Amino acid sequence: MDFTKYIALTLTLGLFSACNLSPEKKQAENTNESVLDSLGTTEPNKEAREDSMKMAEALTLQAKFTNIIEADYETTPVLSELGEDAADDPAIWINKTNPGKSIIIGTNKKAGLNVYNIYGKELQFAPVGNINNVDISYDFVFNKRTIDLVAASNRSTQTVDVWEIDGENQKMIEKQLIKIPSGVDDVYGLCMYHNKNTNQHYVFVNGKNGKVEQWLLQNESDTLTAMLARSFWVNSQPEGMVVDPITDKLYVGVEEDAIYQFNALPNDTLSVKLEQSSATNKDISYDIEGLTIYRQSDKEGYLIASSQGSFSYAIFDINEPYNYITSFVVKNGKYDGVEETDGIDICSTPMGYEFPAGILVLQDGFNKDGETIVNQNFKIISAKKILDFLK
Ligand code: CA
Ligand code: CA
Ligand code: CA
Ligand code: CA
Ligand code: CA
Repeated sequence: MDFTKYIALTLTLGLFSACNLSPEKKQAENTNESVLDSLGTTEPNKEAREDSMKMAEALTLQAKFTNIIEADYETTPVLSELGEDAADDPAIWINKTNPGKSIIIGTNKKAGLNVYNIYGKELQFAPVGNINNVDISYDFVFNKRTIDLVAASNRSTQTVDVWEIDGENQKMIEKQLIKIPSGVDDVYGLCMYHNKNTNQHYVFVNGKNGKVEQWLLQNESDTLTAMLARSFWVNSQPEGMVVDPITDKLYVGVEEDAIYQFNALPNDTLSVKLEQSSATNKDISYDIEGLTIYRQSDKEGYLIASSQGSFSYAIFDINEPYNYITSFVVKNGKYDGVEETDGIDICSTPMGYEFPAGILVLQDGFNKDGETIVNQNFKIISAKKILDFLK
């Protein structure tokens, strides 16, 4: 049996106790029983799943949450070896003239980027490298046209790649506008930032060693150029990042610590730790992964974080002191529930009667078709379901 199938079997055994493989069958399918013992169901299999963790423990923790919702749609599974950790981070591009024609761009860290419609149908696959995180910025003036940009961390080339969105055709233009060589150690988390006062567009990228770079994007003599505006460090491995354009604040999730807030403008590196986002909050279980912001108005809003160790999502007030409000989980319904989420994104733009308050998109670490593990995908959920927990 090849290694991938072996891993898929291990995952199946670990996650789903209902799996009815007899011990004899297990023995027959696994010639190297000692390897199975060494991986077991409680030991993280770091080679197979970079973000792997203790399944049984996570499911037990997940079961404690009482805010339960179901996915409304799921995307086409990503292209990868069977069940491997491949999908990572989604970004929603809002079609401002026709919100129902908005798109979701999802990363496949083994292959590239996928574009889906808001009902999960795959519209495009761009095999542009091992893409980890992705984000979008609107209204960039490029060669006298106003365009929307998509940027992503490309681990094949250790670059930040930037493309143009072709919203009318619900796709991205596959040729990069620029590939920015990053100095972080293994490009990882990424987000974009449009400062409305200066009309400047930036990309933040972080590396596993804790370095964060901020790149200023500019249009110079018909090309897109990038200038390093600053770099700074957090104390251990970060990934999820998001900027709140209303307040010009950057939020960085340090996976085994807490969320930190920085000024998104490059002139100061003072940080504020969101105290209630650390494991002193019993609803947080490391890793802290994807971050996203839901804004109802310039005054009100929420910061949402994936608590990967409990297969749940924590909601904080977007205003200082960033009070923790509640958490929610996504369980089986029309589609399978959502587990071990990396990237997340949300928007508040109404997108038709099914999505009157926007959509939430979550990466699903264990996509199932019935009881069978299939390739990973993203789940799409009406954002109104989240608002219902906040009343
Ligand atoms: Ca993962
Ligand atoms: Ca993001
Ligand atoms: Ca991570
Ligand atoms: Ca799932
Ligand atoms: Ca499914």
